[in-house]
Amino acid sequence: MVTGVKGKILIIEDERKISDIVKTYLERDGHDVSVADTGGEGISALKNKPDLVILDLMLPDMSGEDICEAVRDDSDTPILMLTAKSEEEDKVRGLGLGADDYVVKPFSPREVVARVNALLRRTLKKKTLLSFNGGALKIDVDAVEVYVDDRQMELTNTEYRILLVFAERPGNVFSRTQLVNMVQGYDFEGYDRTIDAHIKNLRHKIDPDSRTPRFIKTVYGMGYRFIGQPDED
Ligand code: CA
Repeated sequence: MVTGVKGKILIIEDERKISDIVKTYLERDGHDVSVADTGGEGISALKNKPDLVILDLMLPDMSGEDICEAVRDDSDTPILMLTAKSEEEDKVRGLGLGADDYVVKPFSPREVVARVNALLRRTLKKKTLLSFNGGALKIDVDAVEVYVDDRQMELTNTEYRILLVFAERPGNVFSRTQLVNMVQGYDFEGYDRTIDAHIKNLRHKIDPDSRTPRFIKTVYGMGYRFIGQPDED
């Protein structure tokens, strides 16, 4: 599933069963996930500047409340709290501490992924403008607009989805089959060979000089790689 925003996520949770499954689901969704088993580890992992923290309210060494306060003192990093306390008062207290959202155990991992993506979309707004090669290629994910050398390009829906798959994961090589699977959620009716036709059209629009491609490179025998260099925020 392509959601437009992928993040670096820190899970602070002492129950391995829970952190493992949440990590698996988030990674499958394209996020970069690390796990801390204790509050202390969690606090020191904050220096890696996660985009979002998933925090268990009940930890052995520190209270989730204290960690929440520590995160808040330091940054605006959104916090999704995991809580086994379902009483209304505890929920309100959790949010009062600065947690941005919470889920009550037992929860479905899919629900956690959905909440994470919603929080990231809300808080990482600025990152919905993807820019490469000194602004030579810009993708405005909210407006669904693509600019090449400051000229707006009209892409078909499929071309846009393919470009977004690439641009969200610069450097990765995608096989034709992978690309078909990743854009299929958007009514893509095609097979491996038609993906080549879509990519050819997409390249023609964003990379007119096919001998020295700036953005999409053919990897012979494998598929395609996006070679655009992401610009700093
Ligand atoms: Ca716990």
